[in-house]
Amino acid sequence: MVYDLLIKNGKLIGGQTIDIAILDGKIAETGVFVEGESKEQIDLKGESFISPGWIDDHVHCFEKMTLYYDFPDEIGVKKGVTTVIDAGTTGAENIHEFHDLAVQAKTNVYALVNISKWGIVEQDELADLTKIQKELVKKTLTDLSDFVIGIKARMSKTVIGENGIKPLELAKEIQKENNNVPLMVHIGSAPPELDDILEHMSAGDILTHCFNGKANGILDSEKGKIKDFATAAYNKGIVFDIGHGTDSFNFTVAETALKEGIKAKTISTDIYIRNRENGPVYDLATTMEKLRVAGYEWSEIINKVTAAPAESFHLKRKGHLVTGYDADLTIFTIEEGSKLLTDSNGFTREAAELIKPVKTIIGGVVYDNQL
Ligand code: ZN
Ligand code: ZN
Repeated sequence: MVYDLLIKNGKLIGGQTIDIAILDGKIAETGVFVEGESKEQIDLKGESFISPGWIDDHVHCFEKMTLYYDFPDEIGVKKGVTTVIDAGTTGAENIHEFHDLAVQAKTNVYALVNISKWGIVEQDELADLTKIQKELVKKTLTDLSDFVIGIKARMSKTVIGENGIKPLELAKEIQKENNNVPLMVHIGSAPPELDDILEHMSAGDILTHCFNGKANGILDSEKGKIKDFATAAYNKGIVFDIGHGTDSFNFTVAETALKEGIKAKTISTDIYIRNRENGPVYDLATTMEKLRVAGYEWSEIINKVTAAPAESFHLKRKGHLVTGYDADLTIFTIEEGSKLLTDSNGFTREAAELIKPVKTIIGGVVYDNQL
């Protein structure tokens, strides 16, 4: 057998080296030493790291929107990210158009369908409950089952109008009526109150913007402690997702949570063109550096952009370096350096370890990030 690509001596985050053979867009073989002929070979000489392809599970990348939009390859392949999950930019009425564009990207694109039928065309997509049409959501989940992998509800003041917790109740009903699909819930300023939102969520549901610095977040800033009900929700199995965004990541909240044993399961950016170009997000690597500074180990950071999001969203052949899985890989370096990192509230930390994608491999195709 002749492989399409053989990667030699990639360094795993634990320090061991690995060879990976790729054939027909899949991982054909992995091991300390893989032999065989291949059309192409890359020798990393034990210098660069290799991991499953990075997955960013909260982005906005439908270029035809005006509020939150971007281009999949600008936030994906160019940034070491092999898979992005668009978190509810579109709803049942416009997600087909998004799908038609998304499949043309080099980056793997999936979507969560907004329970509001036009998605985030306007900021208050859940202020009018007639926009939540269960049958339309169901049809989308069925018609685009390879693309739509969950549902999204944004539960904060500017989004819900006078509707209180009602949109979340409807989201939970939709979830139950559709094989318990993954549900991502955005949080922000009240109403609704965070304890009420968490009350309505179940184990496995994804809470994005988990470390936002708002009064309605998980931190009791007077006591300098995580609110009891937030700890209880975490212990109940609600999945904490970073969803950094323009307004939703605060170092102190992340650091306080870590001290109390509360960690985000997944690291994501909530990236779109403005917070990519002007910050504070820039890209997934920068968000990973922020969690490193907050006290996470690199090994868990890599897990939180590979295996963890693949598990949350049931991406069956992604997130692991295993024979038969998609040949999505990220090759990167971690080097000493110094960089000032800024959170969503303007607070800064000095990073001493910088992570940089070198090559991004998607379905066995190699893209160079240093050109
Ligand atoms: Zn959000
Ligand atoms: Zn978002």
